[in-house]
Amino acid sequence: MHKLSKAPLALNGLGRCFITEKHLSVVRNLRRGFVCTEQGKDEVYDVIISGGGMVGSAMACSLGMDPNLVGKKILLLEAGNKKVMEQVPPTYSTRVSSISPGSATLLSGIGAWEHITKMRYKPYKKMQVWDACSDALITFDKEDVQDEMAYIVENDIIVAAITKQLDSLPDNVQVKYRSKVVKYTWPMPHQAAESIPWVLVTLANGETLQTKLLIGADGPNSMVRKGLGIPTVKWNYDQSAVVAVLHLSEPTENNVAWQRFLPTGPIAMLPLSDTESSLVWSTSHRLAEELLELDEESFVDAINSAFWSNENQSELIETAGSVFRSALSVIMPSAGSPRQLPPSVAGIGLKTRVMFPLGMGHASEYIRHRVALIGDAAHRVHPLAGQGANLGFGDVACLTQLLSQAAFNGKDLGAMQHLLEYETDRQRHNLPMMAAIDLMKRLYSTNAAPVVLLRTFGLQATNMLPALKEQIMAFASK
Ligand SMILES: Cc1cc2nc3c(=O)[nH]c(=O)nc-3n(C[C@H](O)[C@H](O)[C@H](O)COP(=O)(O)OP(=O)(O)OC[C@H]3O[C@@H](n4cnc5c(N)ncnc54)[C@H](O)[C@@H]3O)c2cc1C
Repeated sequence: MHKLSKAPLALNGLGRCFITEKHLSVVRNLRRGFVCTEQGKDEVYDVIISGGGMVGSAMACSLGMDPNLVGKKILLLEAGNKKVMEQVPPTYSTRVSSISPGSATLLSGIGAWEHITKMRYKPYKKMQVWDACSDALITFDKEDVQDEMAYIVENDIIVAAITKQLDSLPDNVQVKYRSKVVKYTWPMPHQAAESIPWVLVTLANGETLQTKLLIGADGPNSMVRKGLGIPTVKWNYDQSAVVAVLHLSEPTENNVAWQRFLPTGPIAMLPLSDTESSLVWSTSHRLAEELLELDEESFVDAINSAFWSNENQSELIETAGSVFRSALSVIMPSAGSPRQLPPSVAGIGLKTRVMFPLGMGHASEYIRHRVALIGDAAHRVHPLAGQGANLGFGDVACLTQLLSQAAFNGKDLGAMQHLLEYETDRQRHNLPMMAAIDLMKRLYSTNAAPVVLLRTFGLQATNMLPALKEQIMAFASK
């Protein structure tokens, strides 16, 4: 209640200060705004999160459950419908994510992981990545049988689990579905006559809301980011990803994630169950379109051939690779991991083939006065490392911690001080990861012999260095 009553007081102050004719119209406008507040139309929130995908929903839940933020008014706005799941559907959805242990910890902390484990998920312990041009391979595995490398979870299940948790929170967190934001009006960094004090959010139905902190979680085409004119480095890759649910030829333990780098792009098979896996095949737009058009049998043949065929290998590279491998095994006889073979595919789930154009994007600033960007609104990556959503969950964990601390210290949640800390922390983590993913995409998009040799030696050497592999895994697990 006290939050609403602050607005007319602030206006009175402004009314006293700005009495020149020049400012009268502004003051009148401001008065109009605050009259709305008095009538309860123009509500003021402490935090509004715009976009209720995986990352925005997690943000709302995480803030709503933080003990230091009890009493703060939090609102999540989502353009789409509410995603409830009374029962887990009998068939798998095409859209899945590899969820890192760090993200699982965040989801566990907000109570969503428990729902996920009761619905459907698949842990895996090992990942084998290999080069179609040389068969050089690297295996990441968790030596400790208790540890999981990551988890494959359907995106719908992640959102449904967080939604369930949001439903159980007290009234301090509200969610408005089918609420598309059509306009943002930004406050000036320093209180000026022409400026409103908070961010003004206008919905498609004409409703207006105000917030002391706006969190933009509205995806790669973020209206928040564009509206603020934040410079963004971005480009489209020459690839699209074809995704599908795969039926395996025979039941297996299926606890390995497989990825093979073809010159046209990486193909990955991620475990879903003993008999099913999820396909993420990044390839040229033309081939992706052709793959969508193929009948089921030819599509399955194309997948098996992409995992098994030797058509991209040359004798020269193979000889050089095997000499280098033998030399390494003399120096480090016990290092390296044995090659495993991926399961073969027998069929695909009905109507599960979909294609997505791929791109990369990075906002040079994650914050502005009273605004923070999270998830794909701030950074978009190629799916080859399965990191997009994980980076977003990392943003959620970091921003929650800083806002919680700010609330504990009685600070203004929209103040630049802790927002700057958020930006620094996250860019320090996200930028190296994005650079590594982009480099991998480029390094593996060619079958030119010198590059193939270079990456063959690099992959084989890394595979022999458990300490380096541990470090790579630790970085990707956050
Ligand atoms: C093929 C593929 C495979 C992938 N695999 C993985 C993986 O294995 N692991 C991983 O971590 N990541 C993966 N990713 C990346 C991951 O899917 C994304 O990083 C993640 O979905 C981003 O979530 P988000 O909530 O930030 O954005 P989005 O999912 O884009 O959500 C944005 C939300 O904002 C809402 N919205 C937009 N505009 C407005 C508005 N004006 N008003 C109100 N609401 C609005 C939208 O309706 C939407 O719900 C993959 C991506 C692709 C394409």
